[in-house]
Amino acid sequence: MSDLLKEIGKRKTFGIIAHPDAGKTTLTEKLLLFGGAIQEAGAVKSNKIKKGATSDFMEIERQRGISVATSVLAFEYKNHKINILDTPGHKDFAEDTYRTLTAVDSVIVVVDVAKGVEEQTEKLVQVCRMRNIPMIVFINKLDREGKDAFDLLDEVEQKLGLSVVPLSLPIGMGSEFQGIYNIWENNIQLFLEEKKQRIGTAVKFDDINDPKVDEAIGEKAAVTLREELELIQEVYPKFNRENYMNGDLQPVFFGSALNNFGVRELLDAFIEIAPNPQPKESDSRLVKPEEKDFTGFIFKIHANMDPKHRDRLAFVKIVSGTFKRNENYLLVRENKKMKFSSPNAFFADKKEVVDESFPGDIVGLHDTGNFRIGDTLTGGEKLSFKGIPNFSPEHFRYINNDDPLKAKQLAKGIDQLMDEGVAQLFILEMNNRKVIGTVGALQYEVIQYRLEHEYGAKCTYEPLSIHKACWIEADEKSEEFQEFARLKQRFMARDKYGQRVFLADSSFTIHMTQEKFPNVKLHFISEFE
Ligand code: GDP
Repeated sequence: MSDLLKEIGKRKTFGIIAHPDAGKTTLTEKLLLFGGAIQEAGAVKSNKIKKGATSDFMEIERQRGISVATSVLAFEYKNHKINILDTPGHKDFAEDTYRTLTAVDSVIVVVDVAKGVEEQTEKLVQVCRMRNIPMIVFINKLDREGKDAFDLLDEVEQKLGLSVVPLSLPIGMGSEFQGIYNIWENNIQLFLEEKKQRIGTAVKFDDINDPKVDEAIGEKAAVTLREELELIQEVYPKFNRENYMNGDLQPVFFGSALNNFGVRELLDAFIEIAPNPQPKESDSRLVKPEEKDFTGFIFKIHANMDPKHRDRLAFVKIVSGTFKRNENYLLVRENKKMKFSSPNAFFADKKEVVDESFPGDIVGLHDTGNFRIGDTLTGGEKLSFKGIPNFSPEHFRYINNDDPLKAKQLAKGIDQLMDEGVAQLFILEMNNRKVIGTVGALQYEVIQYRLEHEYGAKCTYEPLSIHKACWIEADEKSEEFQEFARLKQRFMARDKYGQRVFLADSSFTIHMTQEKFPNVKLHFISEFE
């Protein structure tokens, strides 16, 4: 086997998605502990913004620092190289998370046993379903009183539109929680409440009717367990890896991240079933990881924390071949050859310069303003990867220059911040006014703050009553489109890439427009077939 194939076979690149507080940070930390990548609990910084921190700029800065530090956490476990890509749970950063999900080969969804399926989880899982990303569900906080396991499985199926198969089952819950029956490995892990930890080795048996089960968890619990397992056999499909890989079946595990319970079981199943780096579709062909020539794409750009050095860090997911330091690569959009003398690789506790990286890996490239999110880099071939669309923002405001002497700085700052994907820029066709669209109100403060501190420019905002940005698909020469454009003149805009956008002021307007102009198609996402 070639080195490249060996390296591909070792790699698993995934993201953990969850509603804030479900336990994503805690689970990440426990996974890293298994890999020996960190020595102690508390080492992974929680990448979240506290409620009410919207006006606290220090908090924003802290957040930016942490999100660089936790963007990619790599560790080795049982001869696998595992890359965890961080996905912010805060809804104002949802766009960031959507983009990161284009760079993962699978995800683990964390659900709080008491709260069940929450709003952010629903949204993120929907994005994963659109892309058929393989998903494993981890139901967390079993040491607390929560919902009944079967009710939760139903909820996961209904609210998330998944088709689940439990690969473990809790024995009791909260104060009654005794442990986990591991369906995948066919054993029981006992949980000792006083010490809040796993005790001894697993109780192993070949048959669930083995009296050892009764001894371990008591007769009553054993009876219940047997009934529940029977129910599972009747109601749920058998686990089938192909269906999981296609995104048609989602295995579920139960545990408690905080108590490190059920985490090893999750990780062991993960390395066995989760996909290695996958092929990716481009505008000209499907690119396979094992191809010799390097290809990759940029899914995240991060500004430097030090305002004196304006360079940025672009995160590249390697799709195929071997990425080498100091080799000439092509930035396809600009048809520009580039060389990188200090590409960074990321580990749990550090980043360092690497000579070679392989498919599935993320490398950080220093950038002085060349890159844009979604850019493709190749060994020379002119192809572009598909699939980092923009979604319609939720908030819209005019942005105005507040210091006439700094117009250039402002323009440059806006341009670069938009390349980073902090927000989206729309330019009204009628008067060239700039409109900033964001997912959360917090972004406006981040932009204002960064424009001032990194570019020396000042801006103000002005309200604008827009409901959604609709990307337009139409024959622009048709009379219907011309009529539409004339009537909606005030709301016609272009996005940063020159695509035509209709800024609709209400859902009613969208509805009416679609009725009146059936051949002018409106999309809430910037990429459509
Ligand atoms: P995140 O926002 O999803 O990253 O969530 P965190 O990992 O920061 O966890 C949120 C809170 O839940 C923290 O106070 C954790 O200590 C707690 N937590 C995480 N896992 C468990 C668990 O298994 N049991 C209990 N009781 N609490 C947990």
